[in-house]
Amino acid sequence: MTTDLLKTEGLTKTYPLPGGARHTAARDVTFTVPRGGSLGIVGESGSGKTTVARMLVGLIRPDEGGIHIEGRPRAPRTPRGRTARLARAREIQMVFQDPYISLDPRLTAAQCVRTALRLHGREDSHAETLLDQVGLGTREAGARPRELSGGQRQRLAIARSLAVDPKVLVLDEAVAALDVSIQAQILRLLTEIRAETGVALVFVSHDLAVVQHVTEEVLVMRQGEVVEQGPTSRVLTSPQHPYTHLLLTSVPTKNWDPEKATRAREAIG
Ligand code: ADP
Ligand code: MG
Repeated sequence: MTTDLLKTEGLTKTYPLPGGARHTAARDVTFTVPRGGSLGIVGESGSGKTTVARMLVGLIRPDEGGIHIEGRPRAPRTPRGRTARLARAREIQMVFQDPYISLDPRLTAAQCVRTALRLHGREDSHAETLLDQVGLGTREAGARPRELSGGQRQRLAIARSLAVDPKVLVLDEAVAALDVSIQAQILRLLTEIRAETGVALVFVSHDLAVVQHVTEEVLVMRQGEVVEQGPTSRVLTSPQHPYTHLLLTSVPTKNWDPEKATRAREAIG
């Protein structure tokens, strides 16, 4: 029997509302990702995607439900002790929409990657390979975050995450702030990296068009709930839920009809 690499069961997170009620940001989110697999999480803004991503990496704690890595429960909060903390970080790494927040402005790209390598007891010399793997050359290796373009900064954030040699890479709207042509480059890079390293991807995006290029499975969220999940190709070609259909008609393609998208949105309420 093969155990799944990543498995969530009934992940639920609520936030307090004024007056004592609670707002459910995510409810009963259950999925599995096989070793080296790829899962897209899509939905409109506010549907609970980031909440799920943050529960996966441990930035927020679920009210209910659990996360398993290779059949073992993931520690619900940052463990005490350096070894346990580092081991936990190697399970799941996260890349955010804005890498400025997570990159140290004082460190060059090479220093940034070396710092992550050293922290995890790996050889400094991997830095060059990692930077090369994400398409950053010698000039970029010596540059600080503000001297890099948005796409290059995101490449650096990916290299730094890979330095940890994670089992899962969670990317939350990681290409949302980039130009379409740069988006395409980063998406191709992610596909290459998955093939080369075997890292599993959880790719969070409001944009179904983006998700289809990098994921085999997709999960569609609406108002905190999973309304549909399945193989990306199937969900895109024959969506079972009206909301997925709506998301598809909302993607501005060549044949996009804003009138139709607006009518579909109104119909679903
Ligand atoms: P998405 O990433 O899909 O845009 P989020 O997971 O960020 O959605 O948010 C889901 C819902 O939870 C939203 O209604 C949002 O306002 C609410 N929410 C998220 N974080 C918090 C928080 N820290 N406090 C209160 N409400 C929150
Ligand atoms: Mg979000």
